[in-house]
Amino acid sequence: MIRQQTLAKSISVSGLGLHTGRVVRLRMTPAPVDTGIVFLRTDLARSLPIQARYDNVVDTRLCTCLGRDGVTVGTVEHLMSALYGLGIDNVTIDLDGPEVPILDGSAQGWVEHLLEAGQVAQRRPRKVLVVRRAVEVRMGDSFARLEPSSRFRVSASIDFDHPLISRQSFSFDFGRAGFVEQICKARTFAFKREVDYLRSQGLAKGGSLDNAIVVDDFSILNPEGLRYQDEFVRHKVLDAIGDLALSGEQVIGHLRLDRSGHALNNLLVHELFSDPRNFRRIAADQPDTQFDEGFALPAFAAS
Ligand SMILES: [Zn+2]
Repeated sequence: MIRQQTLAKSISVSGLGLHTGRVVRLRMTPAPVDTGIVFLRTDLARSLPIQARYDNVVDTRLCTCLGRDGVTVGTVEHLMSALYGLGIDNVTIDLDGPEVPILDGSAQGWVEHLLEAGQVAQRRPRKVLVVRRAVEVRMGDSFARLEPSSRFRVSASIDFDHPLISRQSFSFDFGRAGFVEQICKARTFAFKREVDYLRSQGLAKGGSLDNAIVVDDFSILNPEGLRYQDEFVRHKVLDAIGDLALSGEQVIGHLRLDRSGHALNNLLVHELFSDPRNFRRIAADQPDTQFDEGFALPAFAAS
């Protein structure tokens, strides 16, 4: 049986919020089975827990932002990606500001904190969802598609009119070790002219070369360069895993993305759940450990 997991102990992390530029203190605490990932703003007197679910997403313009009754928690995607990548199902996350710390713009810092805390298996099986029918959403030139597959796989491509980025593709067969090695270190990226514009609008106040790859028309401004030659598209995979994590279940299917972003990723999860014939839920209570690495048993593979 593949059991749900939570943290072995609590973790506290402080860091800058990308948009406010203010330090946010965040504390992750082990939570009981079937809790899922729940955020709570501790800086507000009247604040209700916000379940990290696709239907609580209230804004996708600059990040994935959750909200409930006017209270929001922004930039959840890299932390959600780290939790999903490591297979952590149940955690309560308290934070004293409106956004999750950006750390270095990747999920590496979150992965390190989570690995240091350790994980414990809980009593119930993990929730596993097998995609049965392909679903697809489009916006202009972009598309996101989820297809039946015997395992969780992400294939992404991007196409930017920029000499250092241009067209990049990356396919990732999901696995915990692979996530840690190939995906979690990829940083978010921004174009200098966009950063200048956001700053003029009072946004991205915490943004710097310490938490994003920044490119101008010809070069990468970060003196240390890139972590992977195709770091840009790998970050798209990281983001998409974080957005898919908002399904609240382990998804067995092939996620295919071209020029996608948070809005499209969220729309795809809405599309998936819009018709119960699109998926099948299975209990991960079989004596099969392959679920941990994103596989479904052949008998469960979408037919
Ligand atoms: Zn991102």
